[in-house]
Parts: sequence; C-alpha cells; structure tokens
Amino acid sequence: MADVTSECNIKVLCRFRPLNQSEILRGDQFIPTFQGDDSVNVGGRSYVFDRVFPTNTTQEQVYNACAKQIVKDVLGGYNGTIFAYGQTASGKTHTMEGKLHDPNQMGIIPRIAEDIFNHIFGMDENLEFHIKGCTERFVSSPDEVMDVIDEGKNNRHVAVTNMNEHSSRSHSIFLINIKQEHTETEQKLCGKLYLVDLAGSEKVSKTGAAGAVLDEAKNINKSLSALGNVISALAEGTKTHVPYRDSKMTRILQDSLGGNCRTTMFICCSPSSYNDAETKSTLMFGQRAK
Ligand code: ADP
Ligand code: MG
Repeated sequence: MADVTSECNIKVLCRFRPLNQSEILRGDQFIPTFQGDDSVNVGGRSYVFDRVFPTNTTQEQVYNACAKQIVKDVLGGYNGTIFAYGQTASGKTHTMEGKLHDPNQMGIIPRIAEDIFNHIFGMDENLEFHIKGCTERFVSSPDEVMDVIDEGKNNRHVAVTNMNEHSSRSHSIFLINIKQEHTETEQKLCGKLYLVDLAGSEKVSKTGAAGAVLDEAKNINKSLSALGNVISALAEGTKTHVPYRDSKMTRILQDSLGGNCRTTMFICCSPSSYNDAETKSTLMFGQRAK
C-alpha cells in the first residue's frame, strides 16, 4: 500500500464499515461503489480522498497505510493529530481504538502504543516516556497505555438517543507527548500527537434529542463545524486566515494542526441506504478539507 502521509500535511482518508446484522435484516441496500483506492461513488456522485478504505480493510492495513508514518514523524519531533469524524456507529471508535487487547482487531491508538515502545526499547535505555492528559499517567508498556484508555473511556459522557445507539456526546482527545533527550549528543526532541475520536456528527433532529441533550448536541455541531472551517482554511493554503479561536477544541489542537504538523482526518461512513443522507453529508465534510 502506498504511504499517504509523505507530501502534503493534511490527509483525508475515508473508511466504510460493513453493513451490520440489523441493517441486513431490515433489507438495507449497500450504497457505496469503490473505484480505485482513492474514490467512492455514492448516489451517482464520486468523492475523491487521499485514500478510500472499503469495508473489508483490516485494522492493520489502515494502520500501515497512514498512522505508522505519523508515529515516525512524531518521534522525529513533529506534532500531529489524527481525527475520526462521522455519525454515531459509523466506525470512529473502531478505527481509533478497536478492541484494545485483540491483536487483529485493535485500532490505531493501541498500535501506536506498541510502535512507540518498540522504538524506545530498540534505543537508548535512558529515555523517559510518559503520556500527559487531563490526568497524567506514567506508563512503561503498551498494556499500561490501554489501561489509561479504559480509564478515560469510563469517564466519557454517553447518552442513549432515539438512534438506538450509545451516542457519544463528547469528543475524546487522547494526547501522547514524547520528549526525547539523547544523553550523549544532548539533542532534545519533543513531539506530540493528538488522537481524537470526535462526537457523532448526526443532525440533531434525527436523534430526537430535547432539553439539555439538545443544547449539548448543538454545541457539538458548532465545534464540528469550527473544526471543518479550520481544516478547510488550512487546506486552502498559508495566506488564508485560520479560525482556530472559534472553538475550544481547535484552540487546544492549534499547535498540532496545519503548518509543519501531520494532520490526518478519517471520514467514517455507514454503507447502508438507511443512512444515505448522513453519509453524503459526512463525505462532503471530508471534501472540504481537500
Ligand atoms: P462510532 O464510534 O462511530 O459511534 P463504532 O466504532 O462504535 O462507531 O462502530 C459501531 C459498530 O460497528 C461497532 O460494533 C463496531 O465494532 C462495528 N464496526 C465499525 N467499523 C467496523 C469495521 N470496519 N469492520 C467491522 N465492524 C465495524
Ligand atoms: Mg464511538
């Protein structure tokens, strides 16, 4: 597979999950048609990305095609961000986390943890490694990183909506901060990598939310559109004003988005005819970054 992270600093990758059991039982149609490895057709329109991953793509293929290079870059002192965007149940968490302790099914974050530790233990014994977040944990193995993820997940806010899914009403931001000090050369390298599992992007009306949940949903939509504006300004080039200050999330991520940073956006989609409208709007969100 081609390495999609080498030239331009913003990559948009699109991944479709398979139809699930209840969609098959309902008789939903499978709507995407995949063309080459960078294009998908939905409803007669083609959408082109840096890469399109069809439903049978494995977690390992996704990791090797995009995240592996970012880890190398962060270890080389660059900052980076990997996002997953899409409606609830489109595969964001599957892509970012997957099944944490399952070697085949684990997603990007546990694979990154393994890669970083492989790198550390093949190196200099004097390296110190830690992960910094709202709560800071010192870790010494990939398993300990996964325990930190589990802990973070338990703190995450979820609400059950009429979509019959646990719709995550929050963005989950996981930050890996890598500081390297080479004792002999005294060279210092700092790189940080934000791993962001965004809140579901579905329209508020479809979830049947009301009251406080509705307000929260509106805030989520606002912060997702602020993110879209930042990414599309970055994609347009250096002379455009980048509205980082329009949301808390883009302010937090400011020094890890654009410029010299490595930014990768996963556009996660359902293949079901039932989600046709959301899928098109998700694909459009991804196209704005191109
Ligand atoms: P989200 O985080 O976007 O709400 P999830 O990642 O939780 O969605 O995915 C919803 C369900 O679909 C989960 O049961 C997940 O395991 C499954 N799923 C998602 N993507 C894939 C995929 N590419 N292959 C197989 N199952 C998937
Ligand atoms: Mg999720």
